Order: sequence, then structure tokens, then C-alpha cells
Amino acid sequence: MTALLKALKISDGDEVIVQAFTCVAVAEGVMALGAKPVYVDIEAFGYNICVDDLKRKITKKTRAIVVQHTFGIPAAMKAIISIAESAHLFVIEDCCHTIGSSQDGRVVGSWGIGSFYSFEWGKPLAAGLGGVATVNTEDMKRRLDKQLIEYKRPPKIKSVKIQIQYIAHQMLYRPRLYWVIRDIYKTLGKFGVAEGNYHSIQKSVVSEEFSWRMLPSVEMRAVSKLKNIRHIEDYARKVSKIYRDEILNKNVTHPVISIDCNPVFARYPLRVRNKEDVLKMARKENVELADWYSSPVHPLSKGDLIKVGYVFQSCRQAEERCKEVVTLPTHQKTKKKDIIRAIKFINSL
Ligand SMILES: *Cc1c(COP(=O)(O)O)cnc(C)c1O
Repeated sequence: MTALLKALKISDGDEVIVQAFTCVAVAEGVMALGAKPVYVDIEAFGYNICVDDLKRKITKKTRAIVVQHTFGIPAAMKAIISIAESAHLFVIEDCCHTIGSSQDGRVVGSWGIGSFYSFEWGKPLAAGLGGVATVNTEDMKRRLDKQLIEYKRPPKIKSVKIQIQYIAHQMLYRPRLYWVIRDIYKTLGKFGVAEGNYHSIQKSVVSEEFSWRMLPSVEMRAVSKLKNIRHIEDYARKVSKIYRDEILNKNVTHPVISIDCNPVFARYPLRVRNKEDVLKMARKENVELADWYSSPVHPLSKGDLIKVGYVFQSCRQAEERCKEVVTLPTHQKTKKKDIIRAIKFINSL
């Protein structure tokens, strides 16, 4: 994302609109250029940017809008593009949760001037740490190609760690072990052993990681998995359809999908009444249930939000959703028995 914003010559003093109910990597990516992230609230009862609040947050300093297709649900692209055009703003799409979702038959990532995708574990195409940007103009391609020449290879030790982590995750992970692996990962992260996707927010200097190349091993895996993306997405479609059809509990709320959208869910979101208790029960029963996002700029705590320029209580819907949302897996390691257990668990709430 930072590479795209840099290619658009966004820098000190510029404002970039992002949605609240996002991950810290997005805020950090804006701040890395000296620009200011401006948070727009999400739709009432939804997960994507609210068009009305977006209009309100545009100022003379606004240069770009980062549009997130949260959980794979396409944002209201037609309205957003029209607002951006009349205000002369660039649109960049955050496709970290989806590759194949579409709106009006048009795939996400094709609406804005550029898009970005993440290959981190937990994303639809997991290949290790890293990601890609795609662009929709020749001029942007030239600018990004120029930037890439200056990118460096990450230090050997990082490469080895990322590689080991990916392989360990591939071998060990399955929905039943979600909570155990999550705990191990957190502990290793605390001791600086595991490589996470962010940690520079406390520092005032821009992390050099922004100019690292993708590891060749990650690139190879990503390219090979991309060939198989239809399969990955068909599976996610199938699993989320089962969740939609078979979760009938009146105490939980399914996502509302606009009729012109055809989403591929990275994870299937549900709104529940007592999230903390539900998560505790899921842990006890070994049901994979993720809590993100649980902060408007995940995973920052209330005290840390200010460091990324988020004012507490400024985006009410986003903060509400953080207290309600839990998500179910849709990836290929979610087997039939995991799906059945998850449905049984949710229906029993
Ligand atoms: C994971 C994620 C990112 C960041 O991707 P990294 O490769 O981890 O930096 C950005 N936006 C969203 C919505 C994400 O889920």
C-alpha cells in the first residue's frame, strides 16, 4: 500500500482516508510517508466504509481513499468512485481479504488506480510474509517498477525465520488447534522469535521493512497458489454458504450482502451479543473463532490508538462492531467435521 501511495506522490501533510475497523498495518503504511490517516466510520451494521461519513471527512488536504473490502465483502464501489472523481481523489483498494469478490460483475481490485494484497498467514492466499500491489494504469506501473529497483533483500535471518514459521504453520495448523497455535504464536512474538506483520508503531523512524523485497520462496509459493485460486475460492464460497444456510440462531446476525455483490469470504463474520463469553466458550470447545477486528485499528489498545491518530469514540459503528464480531474460517483446512462443529457451537449460543 505504501508503494502505491508513494507512487502517487503522497507525503508530509497529505491526508489519506482509511476506514476504522481496519488493521494497524494500514495506518502504519500511511504514516510511513508522513501522511495522516483520516478514519471514516463503517456502515451501520456492516463492515465497510460508510459513504456518508466519507463525504464528511474529505478536506482540502485529502489525496487518496483506501477502500477495504472487509472479510471479502465488496465496498460500495460505484458510490465511492463517483465521490472520489468529483473530489479528484485517488482510490486504492485493500484486497487483503479477497481476490475474487465482485460487484456488478466487476472484480475487486479493478476499480481504483491500484490495489494491494497480502500473503500473510490468515489471508486467502497464505504464502509467508509479504504481498503484492497491482496497478491499473501504465504510468503507475512505470513508477512502481522504478521503486522496486531500490528494494533490498531482507536479512538472511529474517528469511529463515519466515520460512520456518510458514512450514511449521502449514504442518501444524488445523481449526481444532487454532487456540493452541494462537497462544504459542503470541508467546513467541513476545520474545521476538516469531515474525509478525507489524511492530514498528512504537518507533518514530520508518521501518526499513517497507523497502524489502518479497522472499523468493514466498514469491514462488504465491505464484503457484495463485494458479489454484479458483479452487481456493470455490471452497470458501461453499463453506460460507453452509454457514449461511445452517446457522439459524436468532441471537447471531449474518452479514448483509447487497444484491449486486458476489463475495468470496476470507472469513465468515457473525455479530454476537456477548463476544467475550462466546470467544471463551469457543476456546474451551476448540472451535476456531477469530476476534478480529477487536479494535478500530486492530490490534491497538485504547491507549495506543492515539499514536495512529484515531480518536476514541470518533467512529461509533466501528467500535460497536469490534464488540460484536466473531469470524469463522472458510479456508481449505476447514474440513466437514470442523464446519459441523462450528455450526453446532454457534447454534447453541
Ligand atoms: C492483513 C491486512 C493488511 C496488511 O497486510 P500485511 O501483509 O500483513 O502487511 C492490510 N489490510 C487488511 C484489511 C489486512 O487484513
